[in-house]
Parts: sequence; C-alpha cells; structure tokens
Amino acid sequence: MMAPERSATMEEISALAKRRGFVFPSSEVYGGIAGLYDYGPLGAQLKSNVRQAWWREMVLARQDVVPFESSIIMHPLVWKASGHVDVFVDQFIDCRHCKHRFRADHLQSFEQCPNCGMRGTLTEPRDFNLMLRTNVGPLEDSASLAYLRPETAQGIFVNFKNIYQTARKKPPFGVAQIGKAFRNEITPGNFTFRMREFDQMELEFFVPHDGRDLDWYREWVAARKAWYSRYGVRPEKLRFHELSPDERPHYAQACTDVEYEFPWGWGELESIAHRGTYDLDAHMRLSGKDLTFFDEATKSKYTPILIESSAGLDRTTLVVLVDAYAREKTVDANGKDAERVVLRFHPAIAPVNVAVFSLARNKPELVERARRIEAELRSAGMRTQYDEGNIGQLYRRQDEIGTPHCVTVDYDTLEDATVTVRDRDSMAQERVASDALAAYFEERLPT
Ligand code: ATP
Repeated sequence: MMAPERSATMEEISALAKRRGFVFPSSEVYGGIAGLYDYGPLGAQLKSNVRQAWWREMVLARQDVVPFESSIIMHPLVWKASGHVDVFVDQFIDCRHCKHRFRADHLQSFEQCPNCGMRGTLTEPRDFNLMLRTNVGPLEDSASLAYLRPETAQGIFVNFKNIYQTARKKPPFGVAQIGKAFRNEITPGNFTFRMREFDQMELEFFVPHDGRDLDWYREWVAARKAWYSRYGVRPEKLRFHELSPDERPHYAQACTDVEYEFPWGWGELESIAHRGTYDLDAHMRLSGKDLTFFDEATKSKYTPILIESSAGLDRTTLVVLVDAYAREKTVDANGKDAERVVLRFHPAIAPVNVAVFSLARNKPELVERARRIEAELRSAGMRTQYDEGNIGQLYRRQDEIGTPHCVTVDYDTLEDATVTVRDRDSMAQERVASDALAAYFEERLPT
C-alpha cells in the first residue's frame, strides 16, 4: 500500500519543525539571531526525551558512572590550561564583493568566491577565537574577562579529585554531564547542526594503567553504537569513522567520529576518544594542584587515562528528527491516492506517545469519555494529547508529529466500552476495551 519513500530536503524538515512547533528561530519577532534557536512545545519534549535516553543508559543504568554539573562560567585559567585560549581558533575568509563569510577549511579553492562566483575577491585567512566572552563583576576590564564554556568536559577534569573522593569511586569509573556550551561559530548553519549555543552530553571515563585502556575505548564505541541502534537510527545513515594517526590530536591514541548522513552530507554527531592523561596533566601543570588518583590499596598515586564520549544533544535531536521524517504515498479512506508525512520516532523519543480523540466536538458524552481516558493514560505515565473533530485531519496532524498511537472514542464506545486504536506506521486499527488501554500501551511503549 505504501510507495517507496524519497529522501526529504532540509527545507521540508525545517518547515515542518516550524509549523508543528519543534524549533523556532530565536527572538524571531526581532528578525532572529544567527546560530540561535528556541525549541517549541514539541521540540522541548523531544529534546528532553533524547536527553533522558542518554542519561538513563549512561548514568542511571551503570554503577560505574556518576552524574555531575559544573558552572558555565569558570575560572579563565581553565581555558588557558585546556588550550582553548591559544588554539581554539578557526580561520575565516571574507568575499570583498558579496561580503559572504567562509570558514577557511570549508573552501575547496581560494581563487573564486563559491557564493557570488567572482575571482580574486577573497581575503587572506584570519584567525578567530571561537570562545564567547563576558565580564564577571561590575568592571569591564581584562581582569574581569571570562568565557562562556565552549565544552562541558573541563568542569569534570578540574573537579576530578572532588568527585572521586566524595563519590568514593576508583578507576575504572566515569563522570557524566549534560549542559550548555557556547561557540562563536564563524558560519553557523544547516538548521540546528551548527549553533552558537548548544547542549553537550559528555562522559569522561577514567581508567587505570592496567593495559585495558584500549579495550575500554572499544567497549565505549560499541556501547554508543548500541545506543543509536536501540533508538532506531537507520544503520545505513550512521557511520563510525575511526580516525587515522594523522587525523587525530597528537595526544589521542584512538578516536572515532560518529557521523550521520544529513540531507546535505555527512556530519559529526559525537566523538569518542582515548585522550591519555593529557587533560589532567594540563590542569596539574597550570594550577600546581594534585589531580592524581590515590589508590588506598597500593598506597600509590597515578594519573588515570581518559576515555571520552562527547556528543551534541541538539545534533542528536536533529538526527532523530531527520531520520524519522518520511513522506509516503498511501490511499485514503475512500481508496483515493494520497500522501502523508510521518515522523517515525521511536516510542521512547516521540514527544507525544498516545493521542486521544473524541469523534465529535459537540457530543458531551463522547468528549467527557475521551477526556477521562486521556487523563487516565497521562496518570499512568504516558505523554498524551487530547483532540477532537475530523478524524482524518487529526490522524494527519499526529502522523506529522510522530505520535505512535491514536485512540478514538466513538458512538460504539458508549455501547460496548471499546475504542479504536490506530497504529502510526502500519495505519492498522483495532478495537480495544477502554479499561485495558493502559496495559495495552505499557506493553507497546518501551522507555
Ligand atoms: P565541528 O567539527 O562540527 O565544529 P567539533 O569537532 O568541533 O565539531 P567537538 O569539539 O568534538 O566538535 O564537540 C563534541 C560534539 O559537540 C560534536 O560532535 C557536536 O555534536 C557538538 N557540537 C560541537 N559544536 C557544535 C555546534 N556549533 N552546534 C551544535 N553542536 C555542536
């Protein structure tokens, strides 16, 4: 019944995201601001579900990972030690003719402007530090200069000792954090792929020098692969690119980039790296403080080796949206050719997992019954939505926001206490006793 799908363009996906309330340009009434976005009611829930899915697996399901949250503004020397003050730099090039700005590493050639086509109009590359600056305290001088963190990881490194001592953990163990990061990207774009304010989900896993560090690295690559596949990301769109020694930072013994094939091409979502002792060493050198691990058993200290998984929450949310999007040919209730847009979210990720409808707006007995069912399912822990009216239109809207199941209360419900349950993907419908609905969905809606 369903024709093969064609792949969607980013314009179609971002138009749907706007129309249905997933993502809006930030401060749109003032014309927006480049690289900044707001999440609408459905987008905020979608992003929260992705965050929860990561947190559940990376923190709650493990006895060897503890949660953490550091401040966004930290001591400026943190960024000196990490290298961000000196080398967190991109080079940019402007076209003198059309004023378009490019990242130097995004240009194939320096001859001709890829935007306006003019030759010889590009400037020399210029360095640009990507950290956003602010001042802490009432005086705006160099002594009060501070940075909005460009990554969450450093908060974990400088707290390593506080964390292991208070959590009473011993390597191998990890620390996880989700939070905002800021980068003054030269060319933000591709919708929410490259933003100037975004959330990261980072895991820093500290391991001893017992020869198993590369095994831990491989275990984390496998765990992250399993995570994406659990939430149904199409395997042909996802690749795990193992970096060659030339491609990876000098201190990294191994590094894998997780990439997704977006409508514009492959883009990085996450990076998993064996970082040696580089980060803790750097903070020990500059702060003069001891950040080694003291092993009570052997009465000796060492700097643990770090395995890092650093993923973008907004990029992962974008992947979930792009990956779920499908436009397909179908037939309507009258047997006519029709087309529908459907977001095939995994049920644990879908912003709404059950929609409950009353067949008619003006029939109090139907409305009251449907509202009661919706309230019961909500109190059983489901993310529900109530609606009423033309069932065809209601299905269309729920397909477009990716709701896995719809429940319709109709006149038969008043006679036999059954409702119609419709499945988003197969569009199959079945009658289910209304008092058995909570159990029915509990079985079908995994967390
Ligand atoms: P890119 O090469 O795309 O600029 P990066 O290699 O600098 O990314 P990392 O420093 O490894 O990125 O950051 C880890 C993760 O944080 C990335 O894989 C991505 O998911 C996310 N991230 C980084 N920059 C941005 C951004 N500007 N907008 C949204 N997410 C980002």
